[in-house]
Amino acid sequence: MKPAAFDYLAADSLDAAAAALSRAGGDGKVLAGGQSLMPMLNFRLVRPSILIDINRIPGLAYIEATDNAVRVGALTRHHAIETSPVVKAHLPVLTAAMQHVAHLAIRNRGTIGGSLSHADPAAELPMMALLLDARIAIQSYGGRRTEQARDFFVGSLATSLGEDEIVTDVEFPRLAPGTGWAFEEVARRSGDFALAAVGVTISVRDGKADQVRIGMMGVGETPLRAPQAEALLSGRTVDGALLDEAVASVRSVVEPNSDLHASGEYRRHLVGVLARRAIETAWRRAIGDLQ
Ligand SMILES: Cc1cc2nc3c(=O)[nH]c(=O)nc-3n(C[C@H](O)[C@H](O)[C@H](O)COP(=O)(O)OP(=O)(O)OC[C@H]3O[C@@H](n4cnc5c(N)ncnc54)[C@H](O)[C@@H]3O)c2cc1C
Repeated sequence: MKPAAFDYLAADSLDAAAAALSRAGGDGKVLAGGQSLMPMLNFRLVRPSILIDINRIPGLAYIEATDNAVRVGALTRHHAIETSPVVKAHLPVLTAAMQHVAHLAIRNRGTIGGSLSHADPAAELPMMALLLDARIAIQSYGGRRTEQARDFFVGSLATSLGEDEIVTDVEFPRLAPGTGWAFEEVARRSGDFALAAVGVTISVRDGKADQVRIGMMGVGETPLRAPQAEALLSGRTVDGALLDEAVASVRSVVEPNSDLHASGEYRRHLVGVLARRAIETAWRRAIGDLQ
C-alpha cells in the first residue's frame, strides 16, 4: 500500500521542528530513520497531516562520554551505537544488545530516538534504557524536560511523550568497572524482533551479588524489570539453587501474550531459560571467571 497524502517539512533546527509539531496540533509526526514510521504510513496505521523530518538538524547524532554517563543524541543510528568504542568501554551490555537489532541495512538508518519513541515491547533499545536507568531528554515548543526510562514506557507502542514533544538525547549512567553483564535473546530468524530477551548487570561486593539489574522484553506490553528476582539475588552467592529460585521468580511476574509467533506459555518458559543464562554469565563476568 501507499501512504495517505501528507505535507513534508525538512526542519533545520530543533526549535523549527518543535514549532511545526506544535502547529500541527497532534496531527504531525517526526520522521527519523523511517524504519518503523514508513511501514506504518504505508499500511495506513497512521495518517499524519505533516511529517517533520529531523534528519538535517545539526548536532543530534553523537555519542559522548561524560564523567559518569554516556550521552547519545536522538539521531544516532543503531549501527553507530553498536560499533562505538565509547559504548563498548562503558556499556558493553548495550553493544551486545545492538547486534540483535534487525538487519544491518535497518541499523544503518534506524535511530535511538525513533526506537525509544516507537516503544515496541520487543525492541532492544527500550529494554536497555530501562535496564540501565537511562534518562531521556525531551523538547517541545514550550521547553525542555527529562524523564527516567522507567516512567517513559507506558504501554505497547505508547510512551509518556506529548504529541508535540521530540526526544533529543538519552543519557546512560556508565557501568562501574568490573560490573558483570549479559544479554540473551531468542528470535525466530536472525534480524527478527525477539520472541524474548533478557539483559542483566551484576556487581560483586564481599563475594556476594550486589546492584543486580534484570531487564526483560517481549513478555509484556512494555520492557520490564524483575525487582523480586533482583532482590532475591542481592547479597548472595549465585549457585544452581539460587538460579532456580530467580528463574521461578522471573516466570511468576510476567504475563506474556500469545501471538502468531509464539504462545504466552512458551514465552514465559523462554524468559526463564534466558534469565538463567544471562544471570549466570553476568555473575561469572563479575567474579572474573569470564571476559
Ligand atoms: C524488518 C524490520 C525489522 C526490525 N527489527 C527490529 C529489531 O529486531 N529490534 C528493534 O529494536 N527494532 C527493529 N526494527 C525497528 C527499527 O529498529 C527502527 O529503526 C526503530 O524502531 C525506529 O527508529 P527510526 O529512527 O527508524 O524511527 P522512525 O521510523 O522514523 O519513527 C518511529 C516513531 O518514532 C517517532 N519518532 C522518531 N524519532 C523521534 C524523536 N526523536 N522524538 C519523538 N518522536 C520520534 C516517529 O514519529 C514515529 O512515530 C525493525 C524494523 C524493520 C523494518
